[in-house]
Amino acid sequence: SALVVAMDGPSGTGKSSVSRRLAARLGARYLDTGAMYRVATLRVLRAGVDLTDPAAIADTVAALPLSIGTDPSHEVVELDGDDVSAEIRGDAVTKAVSAVSAVGPVREQLVALQREIAAVSGRIVVEGRDIGTVVLTDADAKIYLTASAQARAQRRNAQNIREGRGDDYQAVLADVQRRDTLDSTRTVSPLRPADDAVLVDTSELTLDQTIDELYRVVAQ
Ligand code: C5P
Repeated sequence: SALVVAMDGPSGTGKSSVSRRLAARLGARYLDTGAMYRVATLRVLRAGVDLTDPAAIADTVAALPLSIGTDPSHEVVELDGDDVSAEIRGDAVTKAVSAVSAVGPVREQLVALQREIAAVSGRIVVEGRDIGTVVLTDADAKIYLTASAQARAQRRNAQNIREGRGDDYQAVLADVQRRDTLDSTRTVSPLRPADDAVLVDTSELTLDQTIDELYRVVAQ
């Protein structure tokens, strides 16, 4: 039966791993909306568009040849038919994504696509920043994952090391804090928990403990 789970929170809370694993356990699909904003950003960067020009950004993203999968155990992210799943996690995209995701028409376009994907999927965990507050306000369960900035930077740095992107905790912490500020103070869809979201702090929880806690929240 249909089950829509909205999973929001800042970066580095373990949100992606948690969302994927929770989706698999629930026999649900999984949608990574951050990946969609990252693909839009990659397109803008490839087009050489000025990041301070919202109209030019909106134009560039208007026809986005994006393909995104919803299998929680197999990521598919393509731009123009190319696999960009690695490139969208790189530094260039990570630095530019806040500027692109602050553009109103870009959000409207991606939100519409996110709603379509959720509607055809039925059972799905949708991960992002504004899922419970904007995209799927009628979700069956809304979860807001939090963790201290230090815990989040530590996790992201460990992930960077594992994936061959180097070891620089201070730089990662600065980037986490910079993006938190940009994401929570922007005028378009600022990051905040929905009034009816369940807050879960993962600072002191392992991945397994977090999944168990969320499964209890969703399955009750
Ligand atoms: O989750 P991830 O770190 O991949 O998201 C990248 C960026 O995309 C975020 O920092 C945020 O600026 C933007 N984003 C957003 N709304 C979403 C998902 C991501 O604005 N629903």
